[in-house]
Amino acid sequence: MFLSVAIVAVAAAYSVLALQLLGDDSPGAEIPYSVFREEVASGNVVRVETSGDSVSGVFVSPVDAGDDGTVLEFTTVRPSFADDDLLGDLVDQGVEVEARVPSNRNPLWQQLLLTLVPVVLLVSVLVWIFSRSSMGMRFGRSDAQAWDGRGRSTTFDDVAGIDEAKAELVELVDFLRNPERYSRLGADVPRGVLLSGPPGTGKTLLARAVAGEAGVPFFSMSASEFTEMLVGVGASRVRSLFRKAKEAAPAIIFIDELDAIGRARAAQGSSGEREGETTLNQILTEMDGFSNTDGVIVIGATNRPDVLDSALRRPGRFDRHVVVSPPDLAGRRAILELHTREVPLAADVDLQRVAATTPGMAGADLRNLVNEAAITAARDDRDRVRGDDFLRSLEKIVLGTERAVVITPVERRRTAYHEAGHALVGMLQPGADPVRKISIIPRGRSLGVTYQSPDSDRYVFTEAYLRGRMMGLLGGRAAEQLVFDEVTTGAEDDLEHVTRLARMMVARWGMSSEIGPVSHPVDAELSDPATAAVRRIITECYEAAHGLLARNRDRLDRLAEALLAAETLDQDAAYEVAGVVDEIPDDAMVVVVDP
Ligand code: ADP
Ligand code: MG
Ligand code: ZN
Repeated sequence: MFLSVAIVAVAAAYSVLALQLLGDDSPGAEIPYSVFREEVASGNVVRVETSGDSVSGVFVSPVDAGDDGTVLEFTTVRPSFADDDLLGDLVDQGVEVEARVPSNRNPLWQQLLLTLVPVVLLVSVLVWIFSRSSMGMRFGRSDAQAWDGRGRSTTFDDVAGIDEAKAELVELVDFLRNPERYSRLGADVPRGVLLSGPPGTGKTLLARAVAGEAGVPFFSMSASEFTEMLVGVGASRVRSLFRKAKEAAPAIIFIDELDAIGRARAAQGSSGEREGETTLNQILTEMDGFSNTDGVIVIGATNRPDVLDSALRRPGRFDRHVVVSPPDLAGRRAILELHTREVPLAADVDLQRVAATTPGMAGADLRNLVNEAAITAARDDRDRVRGDDFLRSLEKIVLGTERAVVITPVERRRTAYHEAGHALVGMLQPGADPVRKISIIPRGRSLGVTYQSPDSDRYVFTEAYLRGRMMGLLGGRAAEQLVFDEVTTGAEDDLEHVTRLARMMVARWGMSSEIGPVSHPVDAELSDPATAAVRRIITECYEAAHGLLARNRDRLDRLAEALLAAETLDQDAAYEVAGVVDEIPDDAMVVVVDP
Protein backbone atom coordinates (compact mmCIF):
# COMPACT_ATOMS: atom_id res chain seq x y z
CA MET A 1 0.00 0.00 0.00
CA PHE A 2 2.72 2.39 1.02
CA LEU A 3 4.72 1.38 -2.01
CA SER A 4 1.85 2.08 -4.40
CA VAL A 5 1.39 5.57 -2.97
CA ALA A 6 5.10 6.17 -3.31
CA ILE A 7 5.07 5.04 -6.92
CA VAL A 8 2.20 7.32 -7.82
CA ALA A 9 3.97 10.25 -6.14
CA VAL A 10 7.23 9.60 -7.98
CA ALA A 11 5.37 9.27 -11.28
CA ALA A 12 3.61 12.60 -10.76
CA ALA A 13 6.84 14.36 -9.83
CA TYR A 14 8.46 12.86 -12.89
CA SER A 15 5.83 14.13 -15.30
CA VAL A 16 6.05 17.65 -13.90
CA LEU A 17 9.81 17.58 -14.19
CA ALA A 18 9.78 16.18 -17.71
CA LEU A 19 7.26 18.78 -18.87
CA GLN A 20 9.44 21.53 -17.49
CA LEU A 21 12.65 20.22 -18.94
CA LEU A 22 11.15 19.66 -22.35
CA GLY A 23 8.91 22.70 -22.39
CA ASP A 24 11.38 25.27 -21.14
CA ASP A 25 13.61 24.86 -24.12
CA SER A 26 11.79 27.25 -26.51
CA PRO A 27 12.81 30.88 -25.92
CA GLY A 28 10.39 32.47 -28.40
CA ALA A 29 6.65 32.38 -28.91
CA GLU A 30 5.22 29.52 -30.87
CA ILE A 31 3.99 30.61 -34.31
CA PRO A 32 2.44 28.67 -37.22
CA TYR A 33 4.93 27.38 -39.78
CA SER A 34 3.02 29.14 -42.57
CA VAL A 35 3.50 32.50 -40.83
CA PHE A 36 7.22 31.75 -40.48
CA ARG A 37 7.43 30.94 -44.23
CA GLU A 38 5.69 34.20 -45.14
CA GLU A 39 8.11 36.17 -42.96
CA VAL A 40 11.08 34.40 -44.60
CA ALA A 41 9.65 35.29 -48.02
CA SER A 42 9.23 38.93 -47.02
CA GLY A 43 12.81 39.11 -45.68
CA ASN A 44 11.73 39.72 -42.05
CA VAL A 45 13.97 36.99 -40.48
CA VAL A 46 17.43 37.75 -39.08
CA ARG A 47 18.59 34.43 -37.78
CA VAL A 48 17.33 30.86 -37.31
CA GLU A 49 18.48 27.94 -35.28
CA THR A 50 17.30 24.45 -36.19
CA SER A 51 17.31 21.30 -34.21
CA GLY A 52 15.59 18.45 -35.96
CA ASP A 53 12.25 19.76 -37.14
CA SER A 54 12.17 22.56 -34.63
CA VAL A 55 13.05 26.01 -35.89
CA SER A 56 13.54 29.06 -33.71
CA GLY A 57 14.85 32.48 -34.49
CA VAL A 58 14.47 36.25 -34.43
CA PHE A 59 12.42 38.55 -36.69
CA VAL A 60 13.70 41.88 -37.94
CA SER A 61 10.58 43.71 -36.92
CA PRO A 62 7.92 42.25 -34.56
CA VAL A 63 5.18 40.24 -36.14
CA ASP A 64 1.54 40.38 -34.99
CA ALA A 65 0.64 36.87 -33.72
CA GLY A 66 -2.98 37.35 -32.54
CA ASP A 67 -3.51 36.45 -28.89
CA ASP A 68 0.21 36.37 -28.11
CA GLY A 69 0.59 40.01 -29.09
CA THR A 70 3.64 40.86 -31.17
CA VAL A 71 6.43 38.35 -31.52
CA LEU A 72 10.12 39.04 -32.02
CA GLU A 73 11.67 35.77 -30.93
CA PHE A 74 9.78 32.84 -32.35
CA THR A 75 9.77 29.13 -32.52
CA THR A 76 7.95 26.78 -34.86
CA VAL A 77 7.97 23.18 -36.04
CA ARG A 78 8.57 22.16 -39.60
CA PRO A 79 5.93 19.69 -40.87
CA SER A 80 7.63 16.37 -41.55
CA PHE A 81 6.05 16.07 -45.05
CA ALA A 82 7.25 19.54 -46.03
CA ASP A 83 9.92 18.96 -48.60
CA ASP A 84 10.17 22.65 -49.37
CA ASP A 85 13.37 24.47 -50.07
CA LEU A 86 13.58 26.19 -46.70
CA LEU A 87 17.33 26.25 -46.54
CA GLY A 88 17.57 27.66 -50.10
CA ASP A 89 15.07 30.42 -49.29
CA LEU A 90 16.90 31.27 -46.04
CA VAL A 91 20.25 31.47 -47.76
CA ASP A 92 18.68 33.56 -50.56
CA GLN A 93 17.44 36.03 -47.95
CA GLY A 94 20.84 36.19 -46.24
CA VAL A 95 19.52 34.73 -42.98
CA GLU A 96 22.08 33.40 -40.58
CA VAL A 97 21.37 29.66 -40.12
CA GLU A 98 22.69 27.55 -37.31
CA ALA A 99 21.85 23.87 -37.04
CA ARG A 100 22.21 21.77 -33.87
CA VAL A 101 22.19 18.07 -33.33
CA PRO A 102 18.78 17.29 -31.77
CA SER A 103 20.06 15.04 -28.96
CA ASN A 104 22.01 17.94 -27.57
CA ARG A 105 18.91 19.84 -26.83
CA ASN A 106 19.02 18.90 -23.14
CA PRO A 107 22.09 18.71 -20.95
CA LEU A 108 23.39 15.29 -20.04
CA TRP A 109 22.00 15.26 -16.50
CA GLN A 110 18.55 15.97 -17.81
CA GLN A 111 18.84 13.21 -20.34
CA LEU A 112 19.89 10.79 -17.64
CA LEU A 113 17.07 11.82 -15.39
CA LEU A 114 14.50 11.47 -18.13
CA THR A 115 15.63 7.97 -19.09
CA LEU A 116 16.47 6.59 -15.67
CA VAL A 117 13.32 7.61 -13.83
CA PRO A 118 10.97 5.46 -15.92
CA VAL A 119 13.31 2.48 -15.50
CA VAL A 120 13.39 2.94 -11.74
CA LEU A 121 9.62 3.28 -11.73
CA LEU A 122 9.15 0.11 -13.71
CA VAL A 123 11.44 -1.86 -11.44
CA SER A 124 9.64 -0.65 -8.33
CA VAL A 125 6.32 -1.67 -9.79
CA LEU A 126 7.69 -5.13 -10.54
CA VAL A 127 9.11 -5.47 -7.04
CA TRP A 128 5.80 -4.43 -5.65
CA ILE A 129 3.93 -7.00 -7.69
CA PHE A 130 6.36 -9.76 -6.76
CA SER A 131 6.23 -8.98 -3.10
CA ARG A 132 2.46 -9.05 -3.22
CA SER A 133 2.35 -12.42 -4.90
CA SER A 134 4.06 -13.94 -1.86
CA MET A 135 7.40 -14.13 -3.59
CA GLY A 136 8.71 -11.33 -1.53
CA MET A 137 11.48 -13.15 0.26
CA ARG A 138 14.26 -11.45 -1.69
CA PHE A 139 12.69 -8.10 -1.23
CA GLY A 140 13.00 -7.45 2.39
CA ARG A 141 10.59 -9.79 4.08
CA SER A 142 12.18 -11.21 7.14
CA ASP A 143 12.07 -14.92 7.72
CA ALA A 144 13.39 -14.95 11.22
CA GLN A 145 11.10 -13.91 13.97
CA ALA A 146 12.17 -15.02 17.39
CA TRP A 147 10.00 -12.49 19.15
CA ASP A 148 6.31 -12.08 19.21
CA GLY A 149 6.10 -8.45 18.25
CA ARG A 150 5.21 -7.40 21.76
CA GLY A 151 8.86 -7.06 22.47
CA ARG A 152 9.08 -10.21 24.54
CA SER A 153 9.73 -13.73 23.46
CA THR A 154 7.07 -16.40 23.73
CA THR A 155 7.65 -18.96 26.47
CA PHE A 156 5.91 -22.03 27.81
CA ASP A 157 4.11 -19.73 30.24
CA ASP A 158 2.09 -18.48 27.29
CA VAL A 159 0.86 -21.99 26.58
CA ALA A 160 -1.85 -23.52 28.75
CA GLY A 161 -4.13 -26.50 28.74
CA ILE A 162 -2.09 -28.71 26.43
CA ASP A 163 0.34 -30.05 29.00
CA GLU A 164 1.10 -33.36 27.32
CA ALA A 165 2.23 -31.73 24.09
CA LYS A 166 4.21 -29.21 26.08
CA ALA A 167 5.95 -31.94 28.07
CA GLU A 168 7.06 -33.67 24.88
CA LEU A 169 8.70 -30.50 23.63
CA VAL A 170 10.59 -29.63 26.79
CA GLU A 171 13.55 -31.84 25.91
CA LEU A 172 13.97 -29.99 22.61
CA VAL A 173 14.71 -26.88 24.62
CA ASP A 174 17.55 -28.56 26.45
CA PHE A 175 18.99 -29.82 23.21
CA LEU A 176 18.89 -26.35 21.66
CA ARG A 177 20.46 -24.80 24.72
CA ASN A 178 23.30 -27.28 24.99
CA PRO A 179 23.91 -28.81 21.59
CA GLU A 180 27.53 -29.71 22.42
CA ARG A 181 26.48 -31.82 25.36
CA TYR A 182 24.58 -34.07 22.99
CA SER A 183 26.98 -34.06 20.09
CA ARG A 184 29.90 -34.89 22.41
CA LEU A 185 28.24 -38.14 23.33
CA GLY A 186 27.18 -38.83 19.78
CA ALA A 187 23.57 -38.87 20.89
CA ASP A 188 20.97 -39.00 18.19
CA VAL A 189 19.05 -35.79 18.52
CA PRO A 190 15.72 -35.09 16.90
CA ARG A 191 15.82 -33.18 13.64
CA GLY A 192 12.18 -32.98 12.77
CA VAL A 193 9.09 -32.82 14.98
CA LEU A 194 5.59 -32.92 13.60
CA LEU A 195 2.89 -31.11 15.56
CA SER A 196 -0.58 -32.20 14.57
CA GLY A 197 -3.90 -30.97 15.84
CA PRO A 198 -7.00 -29.00 14.90
CA PRO A 199 -6.68 -25.31 13.99
CA GLY A 200 -6.20 -22.93 16.89
CA THR A 201 -4.97 -25.51 19.40
CA GLY A 202 -1.65 -23.71 19.77
CA LYS A 203 0.77 -25.44 17.41
CA THR A 204 2.39 -22.24 16.20
CA LEU A 205 2.39 -20.96 19.75
CA LEU A 206 4.19 -24.08 20.99
CA ALA A 207 6.85 -23.89 18.29
CA ARG A 208 7.50 -20.26 19.14
CA ALA A 209 7.61 -21.10 22.83
CA VAL A 210 10.31 -23.74 22.22
CA ALA A 211 12.41 -21.11 20.43
CA GLY A 212 11.68 -18.53 23.11
CA GLU A 213 12.54 -20.86 25.98
CA ALA A 214 15.78 -21.89 24.34
CA GLY A 215 16.58 -18.34 23.31
CA VAL A 216 17.24 -19.32 19.71
CA PRO A 217 16.08 -17.69 16.45
CA PHE A 218 12.80 -18.82 14.97
CA PHE A 219 12.61 -19.11 11.20
CA SER A 220 9.13 -19.70 9.93
CA MET A 221 7.34 -20.21 6.68
CA SER A 222 3.95 -21.42 5.67
CA ALA A 223 3.92 -24.25 3.18
CA SER A 224 0.66 -23.08 1.66
CA GLU A 225 2.48 -20.11 0.11
CA PHE A 226 4.49 -22.36 -2.11
CA THR A 227 1.57 -23.70 -4.08
CA GLU A 228 1.09 -20.19 -5.49
CA MET A 229 4.69 -19.63 -6.38
CA LEU A 230 6.50 -19.65 -9.65
CA VAL A 231 8.46 -22.73 -10.57
CA GLY A 232 11.66 -23.07 -8.59
CA VAL A 233 10.98 -20.26 -6.17
CA GLY A 234 9.76 -22.56 -3.41
CA ALA A 235 12.85 -24.73 -3.56
CA SER A 236 15.20 -21.77 -3.62
CA ARG A 237 13.45 -20.19 -0.71
CA VAL A 238 13.74 -23.42 1.26
CA ARG A 239 17.47 -23.54 0.50
CA SER A 240 17.99 -19.99 1.70
CA LEU A 241 15.88 -20.56 4.81
CA PHE A 242 17.89 -23.62 5.81
CA ARG A 243 21.15 -21.85 5.04
CA LYS A 244 20.22 -18.91 7.25
CA ALA A 245 19.09 -21.22 10.03
CA LYS A 246 22.37 -23.15 9.93
CA GLU A 247 24.31 -19.90 10.11
CA ALA A 248 22.26 -18.84 13.11
CA ALA A 249 22.32 -22.29 14.74
CA PRO A 250 21.14 -23.39 17.18
CA ALA A 251 17.81 -22.41 15.65
CA ILE A 252 14.28 -23.54 14.90
CA ILE A 253 12.72 -23.77 11.50
CA PHE A 254 8.96 -23.82 11.64
CA ILE A 255 7.01 -25.01 8.61
CA ASP A 256 3.31 -24.37 9.01
CA GLU A 257 0.53 -26.09 7.05
CA LEU A 258 2.82 -28.86 5.99
CA ASP A 259 -0.08 -30.74 4.41
CA ALA A 260 -0.33 -28.06 1.72
CA ILE A 261 2.78 -29.50 0.09
CA GLY A 262 3.23 -32.77 1.90
CA ARG A 263 0.21 -34.67 0.64
CA ALA A 264 0.72 -38.21 -0.51
CA ARG A 265 1.64 -38.01 -4.16
CA ALA A 266 -1.43 -39.77 -5.45
CA ALA A 267 -3.10 -37.38 -7.83
CA GLN A 268 -1.02 -34.28 -8.22
CA GLY A 269 -1.97 -32.50 -11.37
CA SER A 270 -1.98 -28.73 -11.17
CA SER A 271 1.21 -26.75 -11.42
CA GLY A 272 0.69 -25.47 -7.90
CA GLU A 273 0.75 -29.01 -6.59
CA ARG A 274 3.82 -29.88 -8.60
CA GLU A 275 5.58 -26.81 -7.26
CA GLY A 276 4.55 -27.96 -3.80
CA GLU A 277 6.18 -31.28 -4.47
CA THR A 278 9.49 -29.75 -5.58
CA THR A 279 9.43 -27.63 -2.46
CA LEU A 280 8.74 -30.65 -0.31
CA ASN A 281 11.58 -32.57 -1.94
CA GLN A 282 13.89 -29.66 -1.21
CA ILE A 283 12.87 -29.69 2.45
CA LEU A 284 13.52 -33.41 2.66
CA THR A 285 16.87 -33.04 0.93
CA GLU A 286 17.88 -30.33 3.38
CA MET A 287 16.79 -32.42 6.35
CA ASP A 288 18.63 -35.48 5.06
CA GLY A 289 21.74 -33.32 4.73
CA PHE A 290 21.68 -32.32 8.39
CA SER A 291 24.31 -33.62 10.68
CA ASN A 292 23.82 -34.05 14.38
CA THR A 293 25.97 -31.08 15.09
CA ASP A 294 24.04 -28.59 13.00
CA GLY A 295 21.82 -27.66 15.92
CA VAL A 296 18.79 -26.94 13.78
CA ILE A 297 15.43 -28.47 14.60
CA VAL A 298 12.62 -28.41 12.08
CA ILE A 299 9.13 -28.25 13.51
CA GLY A 300 6.28 -28.92 11.12
CA ALA A 301 2.61 -28.30 11.83
CA THR A 302 -0.49 -29.73 10.24
CA ASN A 303 -4.12 -30.29 10.99
CA ARG A 304 -4.28 -33.15 8.51
CA PRO A 305 -1.64 -35.65 9.62
CA ASP A 306 -3.65 -38.36 7.88
CA VAL A 307 -2.95 -37.05 4.38
CA LEU A 308 0.79 -36.55 4.81
CA ASP A 309 3.16 -38.43 2.57
CA SER A 310 4.83 -41.23 4.49
CA ALA A 311 8.23 -40.08 3.16
CA LEU A 312 7.97 -37.16 5.57
CA ARG A 313 7.92 -39.43 8.58
CA ARG A 314 10.98 -41.51 7.80
CA PRO A 315 13.81 -41.57 10.36
CA GLY A 316 15.84 -38.38 10.24
CA ARG A 317 12.90 -36.40 8.96
CA PHE A 318 9.71 -35.62 10.90
CA ASP A 319 10.13 -38.77 12.94
CA ARG A 320 8.73 -37.35 16.17
CA HIS A 321 5.00 -36.87 16.26
CA VAL A 322 3.40 -34.71 18.93
CA VAL A 323 -0.38 -34.60 18.96
CA VAL A 324 -1.87 -31.32 20.11
CA SER A 325 -5.42 -32.14 21.16
CA PRO A 326 -8.22 -29.66 21.82
CA PRO A 327 -8.17 -28.85 25.54
CA ASP A 328 -10.41 -30.70 28.00
CA LEU A 329 -12.41 -28.97 30.72
CA ALA A 330 -9.41 -28.33 32.98
CA GLY A 331 -7.36 -27.25 29.98
CA ARG A 332 -10.00 -24.79 28.83
CA ARG A 333 -10.12 -23.36 32.30
CA ALA A 334 -6.35 -22.92 32.37
CA ILE A 335 -6.41 -21.22 28.96
CA LEU A 336 -9.22 -18.90 30.06
CA GLU A 337 -7.24 -18.02 33.16
CA LEU A 338 -4.18 -17.25 31.07
CA HIS A 339 -6.02 -15.01 28.67
CA THR A 340 -7.89 -13.16 31.42
CA ARG A 341 -4.69 -12.40 33.34
CA GLU A 342 -4.85 -8.82 32.19
CA VAL A 343 -8.61 -8.52 31.94
CA PRO A 344 -10.39 -7.11 35.02
CA LEU A 345 -13.19 -9.54 35.84
CA ALA A 346 -16.29 -8.84 37.89
CA ALA A 347 -16.92 -11.08 40.89
CA ASP A 348 -19.71 -12.95 39.12
CA VAL A 349 -17.43 -14.35 36.43
CA ASP A 350 -17.00 -18.06 36.98
CA LEU A 351 -14.30 -19.26 34.61
CA GLN A 352 -14.97 -22.86 35.57
CA ARG A 353 -18.49 -22.42 34.33
CA VAL A 354 -17.35 -20.66 31.14
CA ALA A 355 -14.97 -23.54 30.54
CA ALA A 356 -17.82 -25.95 31.12
CA THR A 357 -19.96 -24.34 28.45
CA THR A 358 -17.25 -24.25 25.80
CA PRO A 359 -16.56 -27.87 24.91
CA GLY A 360 -14.83 -28.29 21.57
CA MET A 361 -13.30 -24.84 21.66
CA ALA A 362 -9.56 -24.59 21.17
CA GLY A 363 -7.16 -22.02 22.61
CA ALA A 364 -7.67 -19.57 19.77
CA ASP A 365 -11.47 -19.74 20.19
CA LEU A 366 -11.17 -19.14 23.91
CA ARG A 367 -8.91 -16.18 23.40
CA ASN A 368 -11.47 -14.86 20.95
CA LEU A 369 -14.23 -15.45 23.51
CA VAL A 370 -12.40 -13.44 26.18
CA ASN A 371 -11.71 -10.70 23.69
CA GLU A 372 -15.34 -10.47 22.59
CA ALA A 373 -16.48 -10.31 26.21
CA ALA A 374 -14.00 -7.51 26.92
CA ILE A 375 -15.20 -5.63 23.85
CA THR A 376 -18.80 -5.92 25.01
CA ALA A 377 -17.88 -4.53 28.42
CA ALA A 378 -15.83 -1.74 26.88
CA ARG A 379 -18.70 -0.79 24.59
CA ASP A 380 -20.89 -0.36 27.66
CA ASP A 381 -18.08 1.69 29.19
CA ARG A 382 -17.69 -0.61 32.18
CA ASP A 383 -14.52 -1.20 34.21
CA ARG A 384 -14.99 -4.92 34.58
CA VAL A 385 -16.07 -7.80 32.39
CA ARG A 386 -19.15 -9.53 33.76
CA GLY A 387 -20.50 -13.03 33.49
CA ASP A 388 -23.20 -12.06 31.03
CA ASP A 389 -20.55 -10.51 28.76
CA PHE A 390 -19.10 -13.98 28.44
CA LEU A 391 -22.52 -15.43 27.78
CA ARG A 392 -23.24 -12.90 25.05
CA SER A 393 -19.82 -13.42 23.58
CA LEU A 394 -20.36 -17.18 23.57
CA GLU A 395 -23.76 -16.90 21.97
CA LYS A 396 -22.37 -14.61 19.35
CA ILE A 397 -19.51 -16.93 18.52
CA VAL A 398 -21.49 -20.16 18.60
CA LEU A 399 -24.71 -18.98 17.12
CA GLY A 400 -24.07 -15.92 15.04
CA THR A 401 -25.28 -12.54 16.07
CA GLU A 402 -28.66 -11.87 17.63
CA ARG A 403 -30.98 -10.39 15.12
CA ALA A 404 -34.58 -9.48 14.86
CA VAL A 405 -36.64 -11.61 12.55
CA VAL A 406 -40.33 -11.42 11.95
CA ILE A 407 -42.07 -14.43 13.39
CA THR A 408 -45.79 -14.79 13.91
CA PRO A 409 -47.25 -15.32 17.38
CA VAL A 410 -48.22 -18.83 16.30
CA GLU A 411 -44.65 -19.65 15.31
CA ARG A 412 -43.38 -18.16 18.50
CA ARG A 413 -45.71 -20.27 20.60
CA ARG A 414 -44.78 -23.38 18.71
CA THR A 415 -41.10 -22.63 19.19
CA ALA A 416 -41.64 -22.11 22.91
CA TYR A 417 -43.25 -25.53 23.24
CA HIS A 418 -40.61 -27.12 21.06
CA GLU A 419 -37.78 -25.79 23.21
CA ALA A 420 -39.68 -26.46 26.43
CA GLY A 421 -40.08 -30.07 25.26
CA HIS A 422 -36.33 -30.46 24.75
CA ALA A 423 -35.64 -28.84 28.09
CA LEU A 424 -38.16 -30.76 30.13
CA VAL A 425 -36.99 -34.14 28.86
CA GLY A 426 -33.46 -33.03 29.68
CA MET A 427 -34.54 -32.19 33.22
CA LEU A 428 -36.60 -35.28 33.87
CA GLN A 429 -34.91 -38.08 32.01
CA PRO A 430 -32.33 -39.73 34.26
CA GLY A 431 -29.02 -39.76 32.46
CA ALA A 432 -30.08 -37.12 29.95
CA ASP A 433 -28.01 -33.97 29.80
CA PRO A 434 -29.20 -31.24 32.15
CA VAL A 435 -30.42 -27.98 30.70
CA ARG A 436 -28.20 -24.91 30.87
CA LYS A 437 -30.26 -22.33 29.11
CA ILE A 438 -33.38 -22.08 26.95
CA SER A 439 -34.09 -19.31 24.52
CA ILE A 440 -36.63 -18.44 21.87
CA ILE A 441 -34.70 -15.42 20.65
CA PRO A 442 -34.00 -16.16 16.99
CA ARG A 443 -30.32 -16.37 16.13
CA GLY A 444 -28.78 -17.16 12.81
CA ARG A 445 -31.18 -19.53 11.14
CA SER A 446 -32.55 -21.06 14.31
CA LEU A 447 -35.70 -19.90 16.04
CA GLY A 448 -34.84 -21.21 19.45
CA VAL A 449 -32.11 -22.86 21.40
CA THR A 450 -31.71 -25.26 24.27
CA TYR A 451 -28.27 -25.82 25.69
CA GLN A 452 -27.76 -29.12 27.37
CA SER A 453 -24.59 -30.52 28.72
CA PRO A 454 -23.58 -33.51 30.78
CA ASP A 455 -21.84 -33.20 34.10
CA SER A 456 -18.35 -34.22 33.18
CA ASP A 457 -16.11 -34.97 30.26
CA ARG A 458 -17.28 -38.11 28.60
CA TYR A 459 -15.48 -40.31 26.19
CA VAL A 460 -17.44 -43.53 26.48
CA PHE A 461 -21.19 -43.53 26.22
CA THR A 462 -23.58 -46.06 27.69
CA GLU A 463 -26.62 -47.16 25.77
CA ALA A 464 -28.84 -45.62 28.44
CA TYR A 465 -27.06 -42.31 28.04
CA LEU A 466 -27.46 -42.37 24.27
CA ARG A 467 -31.15 -43.15 24.57
CA GLY A 468 -31.65 -40.33 27.05
CA ARG A 469 -29.85 -38.01 24.67
CA MET A 470 -32.05 -39.08 21.79
CA MET A 471 -35.15 -38.59 23.91
CA GLY A 472 -34.02 -35.05 24.61
CA LEU A 473 -33.44 -34.41 20.93
CA LEU A 474 -36.88 -35.80 20.10
CA GLY A 475 -38.53 -33.87 22.95
CA GLY A 476 -39.07 -30.82 20.74
CA ARG A 477 -41.02 -32.65 18.11
CA ALA A 478 -42.88 -34.72 20.71
CA ALA A 479 -44.04 -31.54 22.45
CA GLU A 480 -45.32 -30.09 19.18
CA GLN A 481 -47.20 -33.29 18.50
CA LEU A 482 -48.63 -33.38 22.01
CA VAL A 483 -49.77 -29.76 22.14
CA PHE A 484 -50.68 -28.91 18.55
CA ASP A 485 -51.31 -32.42 17.30
CA GLU A 486 -49.21 -31.77 14.25
CA VAL A 487 -45.53 -31.60 13.49
CA THR A 488 -43.48 -29.05 11.55
CA THR A 489 -40.31 -28.94 9.56
CA GLY A 490 -38.61 -27.21 12.50
CA ALA A 491 -37.29 -30.48 13.85
CA GLU A 492 -35.19 -31.37 10.82
CA ASP A 493 -31.83 -30.94 12.51
CA ASP A 494 -33.04 -32.82 15.59
CA LEU A 495 -34.11 -35.75 13.44
CA GLU A 496 -30.88 -35.74 11.53
CA HIS A 497 -28.91 -35.81 14.73
CA VAL A 498 -31.06 -38.57 16.22
CA THR A 499 -30.81 -40.68 13.08
CA ARG A 500 -27.06 -40.34 13.06
CA LEU A 501 -26.87 -41.48 16.68
CA ALA A 502 -29.21 -44.42 16.06
CA ARG A 503 -27.21 -45.52 13.02
CA MET A 504 -24.03 -45.41 15.05
CA MET A 505 -25.66 -47.46 17.79
CA VAL A 506 -26.77 -50.13 15.34
CA ALA A 507 -23.92 -50.21 12.83
CA ARG A 508 -20.89 -49.20 14.86
CA TRP A 509 -21.50 -49.90 18.49
CA GLY A 510 -23.44 -53.16 18.27
CA MET A 511 -26.35 -51.89 20.38
CA SER A 512 -29.23 -53.61 18.61
CA SER A 513 -30.55 -57.13 19.10
CA GLU A 514 -31.23 -57.41 15.34
CA ILE A 515 -27.65 -56.93 14.23
CA GLY A 516 -25.74 -57.86 17.34
CA PRO A 517 -22.24 -56.80 18.30
CA VAL A 518 -20.96 -56.17 14.78
CA SER A 519 -19.35 -52.97 13.49
CA HIS A 520 -19.75 -51.77 9.92
CA PRO A 521 -18.02 -48.98 7.98
CA VAL A 522 -19.51 -45.56 8.71
CA ASP A 523 -20.85 -44.85 5.25
CA ALA A 524 -21.89 -48.36 4.36
CA GLU A 525 -25.42 -48.85 3.11
CA LEU A 526 -27.48 -50.30 5.95
CA SER A 527 -29.05 -53.70 5.46
CA ASP A 528 -32.84 -53.95 5.79
CA PRO A 529 -32.73 -55.41 9.28
CA ALA A 530 -30.29 -52.68 10.32
CA THR A 531 -32.57 -49.97 8.93
CA ALA A 532 -35.44 -51.55 10.80
CA ALA A 533 -33.37 -51.54 13.98
CA VAL A 534 -32.56 -47.85 13.57
CA ARG A 535 -36.24 -47.07 13.12
CA ARG A 536 -37.20 -49.17 16.14
CA ILE A 537 -34.72 -47.39 18.41
CA ILE A 538 -35.82 -43.95 17.29
CA THR A 539 -39.50 -44.84 17.64
CA GLU A 540 -38.94 -46.18 21.14
CA CYS A 541 -37.15 -43.01 22.17
CA TYR A 542 -39.81 -40.84 20.59
CA GLU A 543 -42.62 -42.71 22.36
CA ALA A 544 -40.73 -42.46 25.62
CA ALA A 545 -40.23 -38.71 25.22
CA HIS A 546 -43.86 -38.21 24.22
CA GLY A 547 -45.08 -40.23 27.21
CA LEU A 548 -42.82 -38.35 29.59
CA LEU A 549 -44.09 -34.99 28.36
CA ALA A 550 -47.72 -36.13 28.44
CA ARG A 551 -47.34 -37.16 32.07
CA ASN A 552 -45.82 -33.75 32.84
CA ARG A 553 -48.07 -31.61 30.70
CA ASP A 554 -48.54 -29.00 33.44
CA ARG A 555 -44.79 -28.51 33.71
CA LEU A 556 -44.49 -28.28 29.94
CA ASP A 557 -47.16 -25.56 29.83
CA ARG A 558 -45.53 -23.58 32.62
CA LEU A 559 -42.15 -23.73 30.92
CA ALA A 560 -43.57 -22.66 27.57
CA GLU A 561 -45.51 -19.78 29.11
CA ALA A 562 -42.45 -18.59 31.02
CA LEU A 563 -40.43 -18.71 27.82
CA LEU A 564 -43.04 -16.70 25.93
CA ALA A 565 -42.90 -14.10 28.70
CA ALA A 566 -39.14 -13.92 29.26
CA GLU A 567 -37.72 -15.20 25.94
CA THR A 568 -34.77 -16.77 27.75
CA LEU A 569 -34.55 -18.84 30.87
CA ASP A 570 -31.30 -19.76 32.49
CA GLN A 571 -30.70 -23.04 34.23
CA ASP A 572 -31.97 -22.05 37.66
CA ALA A 573 -35.08 -20.34 36.34
CA ALA A 574 -35.92 -23.25 34.07
CA TYR A 575 -35.74 -25.80 36.88
CA GLU A 576 -37.74 -23.55 39.17
CA VAL A 577 -40.51 -22.86 36.67
CA ALA A 578 -40.79 -26.53 35.82
CA GLY A 579 -40.80 -27.35 39.51
CA VAL A 580 -38.06 -29.91 39.06
CA VAL A 581 -36.30 -30.19 42.37
CA ASP A 582 -32.95 -31.55 41.51
CA GLU A 583 -29.39 -30.91 42.35
CA ILE A 584 -28.12 -28.53 39.70
CA PRO A 585 -24.77 -29.70 38.43
CA ASP A 586 -21.91 -27.26 38.12
CA ASP A 587 -19.80 -28.72 35.40
CA ALA A 588 -20.75 -29.34 31.84
CA MET A 589 -19.14 -30.69 28.74
CA VAL A 590 -21.26 -31.02 25.64
CA VAL A 591 -23.39 -28.17 24.37
CA VAL A 592 -26.32 -29.35 22.35
CA VAL A 593 -27.20 -26.53 20.04
CA ASP A 594 -30.59 -27.17 18.68
CA PRO A 595 -32.20 -25.25 15.87
P1 ADP B 1 -2.50 -23.26 15.59
O1 ADP B 1 -1.13 -22.94 15.11
O2 ADP B 1 -2.61 -24.59 16.25
O3 ADP B 1 -3.57 -23.07 14.57
P2 ADP B 1 -2.05 -20.91 17.12
O4 ADP B 1 -0.82 -21.26 17.86
O5 ADP B 1 -1.85 -20.09 15.90
O6 ADP B 1 -2.86 -22.22 16.73
O7 ADP B 1 -3.08 -20.21 18.11
C1 ADP B 1 -3.54 -18.91 17.88
C2 ADP B 1 -3.63 -18.15 19.19
O8 ADP B 1 -4.57 -18.75 20.07
C3 ADP B 1 -2.34 -18.15 19.95
O9 ADP B 1 -1.52 -17.10 19.55
C4 ADP B 1 -2.81 -17.97 21.38
O10 ADP B 1 -3.07 -16.62 21.66
C5 ADP B 1 -4.11 -18.70 21.40
N1 ADP B 1 -3.90 -20.07 21.86
C6 ADP B 1 -4.04 -21.19 21.14
N2 ADP B 1 -3.78 -22.30 21.88
C7 ADP B 1 -3.44 -21.85 23.10
C8 ADP B 1 -3.05 -22.50 24.32
N3 ADP B 1 -2.95 -23.81 24.40
N4 ADP B 1 -2.77 -21.72 25.38
C9 ADP B 1 -2.87 -20.37 25.29
N5 ADP B 1 -3.24 -19.71 24.19
C10 ADP B 1 -3.52 -20.43 23.10
MG1 MG C 1 -0.83 -21.98 13.32
ZN1 ZN D 1 -35.36 -28.95 18.30
